[in-house]
Amino acid sequence: MVSKNLSTITKSILYLNVNDKSNFKSECVRRRPMYTNVCKHCHNVFQSKFKTYSCKECKEIDYSQFDDIEAYLKEFPNSNALQISETLGITAYEVLSFIKEGRLNMSKGVFSKLN
Ligand SMILES: [Zn+2]
Repeated sequence: MVSKNLSTITKSILYLNVNDKSNFKSECVRRRPMYTNVCKHCHNVFQSKFKTYSCKECKEIDYSQFDDIEAYLKEFPNSNALQISETLGITAYEVLSFIKEGRLNMSKGVFSKLN
């Protein structure tokens, strides 16, 4: 009887230890400041030390898109995301991501046409 009980207890303790170990492991991972990001270009999920909207593979696309947007806005200062998206062939989501990243500003006023 006693030995049977002991073996049950031993088993349950072992089970708990396994649980504690996995908790400890996830605790270690959580302590590292890592961000889970979704690339706005290829939609891959990746981790990085800093919050970013573009993965390493798409950084070049990102730079060239921003250059295009910058040039376009210099020429047509009162453009909205849809106009930029249509003209440059960049998705509106990608254009808006630059606002989230703080690389573009959005004016809340009415879009006025330059005559
Ligand atoms: Zn990507």
